[in-house]
Amino acid sequence: MTHHHIFDSLTRNAFDFLERGIEEFDKAPKYSVIHFCAAVEMLLKARLMKEHWSLIVSRPEQANLAKFMAGDFISVTLEEIRARIRDIAGEDISDDAYGSFRALANHRNKLVHFFHPEMDSDEKAKEQIVAEHCRSWFHLHRLLIRWDRYFHDFGGEIARADRAMKGHRKYLSAKFKALKTELEVARKAGNTPKACSACGFKAAVPNNLDDQIASLRCLVCDHTEIQVELECPHCGEPIVIANVGYSTCEHCEEGIEPEHLVDALTDHVAAHIGIKDGDDGWEPANCGACEGYHTVVRRGDHYFCASCFDISDHIEQCQWCNEFNTGDMEHSFWAGCSHCDGKAGWEKDD
Ligand SMILES: [Zn+2]
Ligand SMILES: [Zn+2]
Ligand SMILES: [Zn+2]
Ligand SMILES: [Zn+2]
Repeated sequence: MTHHHIFDSLTRNAFDFLERGIEEFDKAPKYSVIHFCAAVEMLLKARLMKEHWSLIVSRPEQANLAKFMAGDFISVTLEEIRARIRDIAGEDISDDAYGSFRALANHRNKLVHFFHPEMDSDEKAKEQIVAEHCRSWFHLHRLLIRWDRYFHDFGGEIARADRAMKGHRKYLSAKFKALKTELEVARKAGNTPKACSACGFKAAVPNNLDDQIASLRCLVCDHTEIQVELECPHCGEPIVIANVGYSTCEHCEEGIEPEHLVDALTDHVAAHIGIKDGDDGWEPANCGACEGYHTVVRRGDHYFCASCFDISDHIEQCQWCNEFNTGDMEHSFWAGCSHCDGKAGWEKDD
């Protein structure tokens, strides 16, 4: 079996578990949690495998291919997966995404160790499971889109899982109905609830940052997100992008990337005049949180990263390379910024 085959079989298995996790929810919620959680971990491990197979072994320095193929190894934990994807693949799994996977894993651990006899008839417990599934799928789906160059052979499986999740959401409709009064209060206060990207119910109460950017909290599934409204750069239809600058247009299915959002969110006239007048606040800036290059745009008094949706109140010039960045630039002359290694790196190269 080649590395490609191992990746393929792990990914195929993950989608099988995911489908199971969704399908068996009604009859066996406990196994649904276990299978769904396993699927999430397997897909994250599949991403790590694209760097090297030994990275899904707890101690890669002791990894042995023959033992690995025989299934005789201790697997990485969720925490290690996140750290390795960050340190080795250079890709960040956001706190929100990790938090949703962690909640799922904690719930799984609880169910595996403590018997819950009335689980099948406990409506509150079942609502919590579906809410967790919705939040995790939201984040996982986005990661799979971002990792399209690795998972492009599984487009059919991803689309099928997304459809199945849309059906899965129906278990939350009782909770949505019970929130009617609360949602009405929000609407009367001028915060008309919007459709939640995780569970689909119109229960995400917005807190507007400006006319295109809002942060929302869903009262049904507890998902929080930042939404950006723009016109699709490909087809011109109005679209909403949530939480990260990588998505696809729901109308034309073309890819949306941070550079499209930067363009749509930049006040080009004000930026042109600002830069001409020597106002540094309009210079293209890099993100200190996700290391995005020129992904930060000015929105009134705030700076918004079109890649990771981080919001900062100021940008500063790197004292070594002169690039503008969000985040702390105090030691940048020596340590550099997200796009240079500072004087320390320069001296090392010398
Ligand atoms: Zn929701
Ligand atoms: Zn479009
Ligand atoms: Zn960022
Ligand atoms: Zn720099």
